Amino acid sequence: MNFDLDPETEEMRDAIASFARHKLGAPAEFDPEEFRQRWLLAGKQGVVGTAIPEEYGGLGQSAVTAAALMEALGYGCRDTGFTFSVAAHLFACLMPVVEFGTEEQKRRWLPALCSGERIAAHGITEPEAGSDALGLRTRAVRDGDHYVLNGDKCFTTNSPVADVFVMQAVTRPGGGFFGLTSFLVEADTPGLTVGPPYSKVGLRGSPMADVHLEDVRVPADQVLGSEGAGASVFTSSMKWERTCLFAGFLGVMRRVTESTVDYAKERRQFGSPIGGFQAVSHRIVDMTLRLESARLMLYKAAAGLDDGSQDEIAPALAKLAVSEAAVQLGLDAVQVRGALGILDGEAETLVRDALPSRIFSGTNDIQKNNIARAMGLARR
Ligand SMILES: Cc1cc2nc3c(=O)[nH]c(=O)nc-3n(C[C@H](O)[C@H](O)[C@H](O)COP(=O)(O)OP(=O)(O)OC[C@H]3O[C@@H](n4cnc5c(N)ncnc54)[C@H](O)[C@@H]3O)c2cc1C
Repeated sequence: MNFDLDPETEEMRDAIASFARHKLGAPAEFDPEEFRQRWLLAGKQGVVGTAIPEEYGGLGQSAVTAAALMEALGYGCRDTGFTFSVAAHLFACLMPVVEFGTEEQKRRWLPALCSGERIAAHGITEPEAGSDALGLRTRAVRDGDHYVLNGDKCFTTNSPVADVFVMQAVTRPGGGFFGLTSFLVEADTPGLTVGPPYSKVGLRGSPMADVHLEDVRVPADQVLGSEGAGASVFTSSMKWERTCLFAGFLGVMRRVTESTVDYAKERRQFGSPIGGFQAVSHRIVDMTLRLESARLMLYKAAAGLDDGSQDEIAPALAKLAVSEAAVQLGLDAVQVRGALGILDGEAETLVRDALPSRIFSGTNDIQKNNIARAMGLARR
């Protein structure tokens, strides 16, 4: 077991962290044009397509390296919403195309999605189907060489800026796992409309909205995988999200832990730095313990992806560990800063950005259900 990254990965990681620190800072207000410019810059650096094979325009990196590069993006980029948007694009949209797309689909869609020219979004969640993903109501009905999609999606990350959607719809009502189909849908397809961006407490730099589908005609050659394979596509995207997407949060946690150590060394009370008080130093040790243990679980899950493991438990544990660690680490970082912790800044931003991480990619309750089921403890 070797815990070191190879020198080439370390070099890429440092380059991405530095690039993100200097070029990907967020403006005070979200601006779609500015967002797209940063996205294009990130694309030129290879950041939005790290795990995509080189022949389709990506960097061709393993899951472990992709996680390391995502961690570097989270570390360098102070706009965690941007990091999250990149990860959602790469792991929830592009990786399913790599794993389920035909050769023609990969050549058609992936290069511009890797270069940063185009942005992708994945529409699964609906007003009546959140955790119960098999309860979708969006329908896709075959009509000659097209499918016609009707329905409503909500909480769709990147939808206000997306050029292409991976859209999940029901092709066989009552068909359960085999009743869903995934489609690649161009954003400018007539009948597809995106609502106004939500105002969120966390991940503010990641645009999100509802998507309405009304008689949206999608050519049959834009089915991803095959008819009835939608749940497999969705499961694959979740496996990547629960592992590599969450690596971004490791980077943020590391940055905040470092700034908390600095603060505890500088801030003096009762004639000495507060870091000298055991209550403070132990809190920072706990932050480090949470970060390092979550990190180990995430890299173990990423190594499993590289080995082709079908283990459901490791990605779910990684997701649970990282999201819970991120929230608690943010709270601890606020506490160490005293009143300064509740002013606009790095620590309170982590709390706000980490809260949604317990919800997306399957809530933490759902992860526990999945783990219990895999252990033979819960009903299917
Ligand atoms: C920042 C962010 C980004 C997102 N991006 C996307 C995206 O790009 N695309 C997309 O399709 N969706 C996206 N989502 C939506 C996300 O996938 C859903 O919010 C999530 O699946 C939970 O669904 P819900 O919000 O409807 O909650 P619900 O399913 O209504 O759950 C409410 C509560 O009940 C609990 N619960 C529900 N069922 C069970 C059960 N069986 N056992 C135990 N507890 C249960 C949940 O854990 C939760 O605490 C995003 C969400 C967030 C917060």
